[in-house]
Amino acid sequence: MDKTSAEETKKIAKEMKARVRFYAESGVDVWKRSPTAPVKNASPVDEAPSGVSEPVEPYMAIVKAGVSAPAGALTLEMVREEIGDCKKCKLCSTRNNIVFGTGNPRASLLFVGEAPGEDEDLQGKPFVGRAGQLLTKMIVAMGLSREEVYIANIIKCRPPKNRNPEPDEIASCQPFLLRQIQAIRPKVICALGTFSAQTLLQTEQKISALRGRFHEFPGAEGVKVLPTFHPAYLLRNPGEKKRVWEDLQTIMAELKGGSAENQG
Ligand code: URA
Repeated sequence: MDKTSAEETKKIAKEMKARVRFYAESGVDVWKRSPTAPVKNASPVDEAPSGVSEPVEPYMAIVKAGVSAPAGALTLEMVREEIGDCKKCKLCSTRNNIVFGTGNPRASLLFVGEAPGEDEDLQGKPFVGRAGQLLTKMIVAMGLSREEVYIANIIKCRPPKNRNPEPDEIASCQPFLLRQIQAIRPKVICALGTFSAQTLLQTEQKISALRGRFHEFPGAEGVKVLPTFHPAYLLRNPGEKKRVWEDLQTIMAELKGGSAENQG
């Protein structure tokens, strides 16, 4: 075996180990699990019976602008330029870095978290702290890598002391995320946690009620949103890993069922 194949084999073995470790931590019997979970019916947010508020006007304006934008016209570089040295909200005065997002600009799968924490603020990259390490394990367990998916947040700057994002901060940053989604055009968005799910779906429903099934993304036709628990919540409640693994399997089945184009 030459040096390159030996290194590749080592890398694969390492990834397999990480995957099996995540399965084990999730309480999943890796040998018994079915390879694909059934895809549950998409539930359009428009038809959700209760607790769903009407999308607010500015949001819908951005959505409409996006829908009419010609395919492929928008790139992530253009969105990053639009953000520039953003001063739209008060977080600009305490941040070290704007955390734009990382990964494959043509990814089929986009993970959207809440907001950068301390590590992310210092490094300018999303999900690089403890919660990020768990997210990486989740991605590897899906048979993917961080380079194949795209990872971003609802807001791009760290709230001081990791407090919850405030409504004006979410409102200021929302157009940027929508533009990122329009540039990437993923098939599936995995919304991590309450803020992500509620913002993307424009609802006040709880994450426990939203998680585990597909919702139509009101910002672009054909894009599905599957909310699940945030990795930081899993660090505090490891017993919920099993349910998150089921959610990830639902996403995997959906991605496998789609066309080979834009995979990852
Ligand atoms: N939590 C998030 O929601 N995003 C990050 O980037 C890191 C932690």
